[in-house]
Formats: sequence, C-alpha cells, structure tokens
Amino acid sequence: MDEKVFEIIDKESKRQESTIELIASENHVSPAVMKAVGSCMTNKYAEGYPGKRYYSGCENHDAIESLAIERAKELFNCNYANVQPHSGASANIAVFLAFMNPGDKYASLVLSDGGHLSHGLKINISGKYFEPVHYPLIYDEDDDGFETINYDAVREVCLEHKPKMLLCGYSAYPRIIHFDKMREIADECGAYLMCDIAHIAGLVAGGVHPSPFPHAHVVTTTTHKTLRGPRGGLILTNDEEISTKIDRAVFPGSQGGPLMHIISGKAVCFGEALQPEFKDYSRKIVENAQALAKGLSGRGFRLVSGGTDNHLMLVDLRKKLPDNTGKEVAVWMESAGMIANHNGIPKDPRPPMQTSGIRLGTPAVTSRGMGPKEMDQIAEWIDRVIISKGDVLVLAKIRKEIKKFCLNFPLPH
Ligand SMILES: *Cc1c(COP(=O)(O)O)cnc(C)c1O
Repeated sequence: MDEKVFEIIDKESKRQESTIELIASENHVSPAVMKAVGSCMTNKYAEGYPGKRYYSGCENHDAIESLAIERAKELFNCNYANVQPHSGASANIAVFLAFMNPGDKYASLVLSDGGHLSHGLKINISGKYFEPVHYPLIYDEDDDGFETINYDAVREVCLEHKPKMLLCGYSAYPRIIHFDKMREIADECGAYLMCDIAHIAGLVAGGVHPSPFPHAHVVTTTTHKTLRGPRGGLILTNDEEISTKIDRAVFPGSQGGPLMHIISGKAVCFGEALQPEFKDYSRKIVENAQALAKGLSGRGFRLVSGGTDNHLMLVDLRKKLPDNTGKEVAVWMESAGMIANHNGIPKDPRPPMQTSGIRLGTPAVTSRGMGPKEMDQIAEWIDRVIISKGDVLVLAKIRKEIKKFCLNFPLPH
C-alpha cells in the first residue's frame, strides 16, 4: 500500500467524521456506492454506448451502463438517459454542443444571483463560445417575491433576445423553480427548455420538489449533490431525436472513454434513490433546512428571500455583522468545526472573493441522521461564532463541543 497517500485519505476520513458538513452541494455516499467506485470497473476502456463499443471485452460494462440507464429513466420518469458525463459542467457542455452553434444566444441566471459558472461566466466555455443573456430576480424589497425569479422579466428577456435555449436550475437558489412557467415562456419565444437540476435532483427524485418533466426538452444534473451518488453528471430527455444529438455530443463530441467505475456507482445511487426510504430522506433534508432557517431567523439573521423551500439557504450576514465578510465567517466556522462556503447574495456590495453571505445546506447532515433538534443546535453554534467575531477561545470551545456531538452521528457505513 502507498502509505503517503493512504495516510492522507485516513486524515480526510477523520476530518469528515469530526466536523459538520454544511456545504449545500456535498453529501456522504453509501458504502455500496463507495465500493462500486473503487472497483475493477475502472480498468476498462468502453468508448461508445452499450452494444456499440469500440473495444472488446465490454460485456459487463454494457450490462452495468444499461442498468444505470434503466434506473435513471425510472427514477426521473423519462424516456432517455445518458449516464456518461464526467460531471455536471460536462453534461452542460454536451447540451450546449447538441443544441447550439458557437455564438448562439441562450437565457440564464447570472452567477452572482445564484446561477452556475457553466451558465455563462465569461471565462467558462459557456460564456466564451456562446452568448448568454441573463434574466433577473425581483430586486424590489417591497415585492412579495423579493429575491425570487422574476418570471415576467424572464418572458421579456426571451421575447427580446429570442434565445435558442432557456436555461433554468441554479446553484444558490433557495426556492421552488416553476418549470411549467419556464416551459410556457420557452414555447412563446421558440426556445428549448433546459433544466439543470444539479442541486435539487435528490429532491426531485424523492418527490419534494416539482419535476422538470414533462416540461423540459432536456434535463442535466450532477449525481453527487442531493442525489447522494458518486461525483458525476447525467442527461435526461423524453425526445428521441434530442437523445440522439445528446449521445453524439457526449461521445465523441466532448468526451472520450466513460468512467465505468463511476457509472457503476451511479447505478447503485439510482437504485438507492428508487427505494421508499429515499423519499423519507429527501423529505427530511427539507425539514432540516427549514429547522435550520428557523433557528437562524429566530437569532436575528436575514435569509435571502426570507427562507427556504429546498435543501439550502443563503444567510445575509450584514444585519448582524456589518463589518465582516462571508469569507471571514466561513474561516471562523471551519475553526469551530462547521464547513460552509462564503457566497454572494443578490446585489452583493462585496466582491465574489469576500461576499456578504454564506450558503448552508442540509443534505450531508441529514445523511448522518441529524434532525430538527440538531439543526437548532447548529444555528446556535453559528450564532455564537458570529457574535464572538472569530474569538479563538470561543471557536476552540465550540470545536470541542462539535467533536463530541459528531460521535453520535457516524458517517454512513
Ligand atoms: C454543481 C453544479 C453544476 C456542476 O457540477 P460539477 O460536477 O461541479 O461540474 C452544474 N450546474 C449547477 C446548477 C450546479 O449547481
């Protein structure tokens, strides 16, 4: 064994065991997913698709990819699935390649309002080779929908610019997405509707967020966030012609050989998400998010849009902590044993490397079996960290409490 490497991996395992994971895009996978991902399936080149490979010896890889595809279709209630994208960003690149030519326009939410870097950031391929036009949130504080998607403005932007695609689905958006309204707008302006459910896939699979089907022309997602599978991507559609284009855009359009060990892990993950217990799991994620939101609001924090409908929330720190940044708070929280990321809030006056907010999510803590009571305890710890303004003695004391607390919530094994 490689001692250097496994010593580091062992340390990482201990870090995960002894800290509270609040990053909204992370999770703890099952031992079965872990085993599939660490299996001999990694040894094979399986370029092509089941039954149509370029290399010999792919019978088991055909079987496992077909199984993953069948389970993905059943889970999301659709007709076609491509399980080969290496990641969420790779899945999005493949869809762009399938639907657009370089220079074509598409409509999306800007990163600073909660979008993803693969939805048009200038230095990403999605912003460099294609032309994003961004639709806004509601920025009027007196509006009931403050900081939620402005669907009327989505329509206006689309009617004005006639984009090839309308892209919805976000990375830091705490509210329900109305896919039906998005499809109406897409139809009105002759655009394809692309739904990127990377963050909420597990909630969709568990029935606690509306499904993008039957509204979407194409759906992309990751498999490692709320869906609790291995790191990877997935593309879904109901349309045969679109599925053919997507398959070509993934391979050979933008990828080479598929990661067959990861696809094995995806098959396990989809199988787990098809079990009745997964519905329970996804319901608990949302319940926990609401408990955490309540615990924070009750302690005087302002949450973007006033709360959450899903697994995540954005805390606007300015009210309680006007002189420190989200970046500083994330560092303090880490010293205390809570892992979160600093995140911009809509119309954030601070630059992206500092920000006025932090993003918190409950998929990982829910996987460890924590419930609403523990969420209130976490809110209290966060509050103490912030009141202390990073006081090292306070952080050290909380660190000790959290280490002890974590012993009661072992990682899935
Ligand atoms: C996380 C995320 C992605 C990208 O996933 P990677 O696997 O990191 O490439 C794409 N879209 C959205 C909305 C995301 O939140």
